[in-house]
Amino acid sequence: MSTESPGPPPPRPAVFLDRDDTLVADVPYLTDPAGLRVLPGAARALVDLRRAGFALVLTTNQSAVGRGLLTEDGLRAIHDEFERLLAAEGASLDAIYYCTHAPRADDRTVVEHPDRKPAPGMLLRAAADLGLDLPRSWMVGDRISDVLAGLGAGCRSILVGSNATLDELPKPAEGGRAFAVADLAAAAALILADSETP
Ligand SMILES: [Mg+2]
Repeated sequence: MSTESPGPPPPRPAVFLDRDDTLVADVPYLTDPAGLRVLPGAARALVDLRRAGFALVLTTNQSAVGRGLLTEDGLRAIHDEFERLLAAEGASLDAIYYCTHAPRADDRTVVEHPDRKPAPGMLLRAAADLGLDLPRSWMVGDRISDVLAGLGAGCRSILVGSNATLDELPKPAEGGRAFAVADLAAAAALILADSETP
C-alpha cells in the first residue's frame, strides 16, 4: 500500500461558455428570469462535454448591472433559474463568473476591464479557483470578444452562430487556434472529436 499522500488532483480541462446566444436565446439586457430560453441542443451538449471530463464554466459579460438596469441580486436570480432549467435537462455548470463592467466603447476587440471579455480575466480566475488546464481548455461563444478571451487565456476558441466568421480576428495568425461552427452542439462535437484524438 502506498503511503504517499494523494496531493492535489491534476488540473482538468474546461469548456468556458458564453451565455447569451450561446446557451440561451439573447434577450438584450435580460432582467426577468421568466425570459430565459435555453437554446435547443445546448443542455445535451453540456451533458456530453461533462461526461468526457470537461469542467463547465459560464463566463458572461453582464453590463446590464454596470448600466444600472439590473442588480447583482437580480442577476443571481436569473442564474438560479438558468441552473434550474439546465438541471431539468440533466445538465449543470461547475461555476458561473460574470463581469458587470459597462463598456464605454462599442469595439468588442478592445479591453476595457481585466474581467470583461475580450480580456481573459474570468477564465484565468476560474482556472486558479478550480484547478483547470488552460492549454487543454476551450472557450465557446457567439462574439469575437469570446474568441479573444479564450485565446488570451491560452485556450482554443470556437465562435458559434449561423453566420459565424473569424474575419474580425485582429491577428489572423491566431486563427489556427480558433474555429467557427453553427452552434454549441457543433462546438461540442468538435471538442469531443479533438479530445478523442491521441
Ligand atoms: Mg453572447
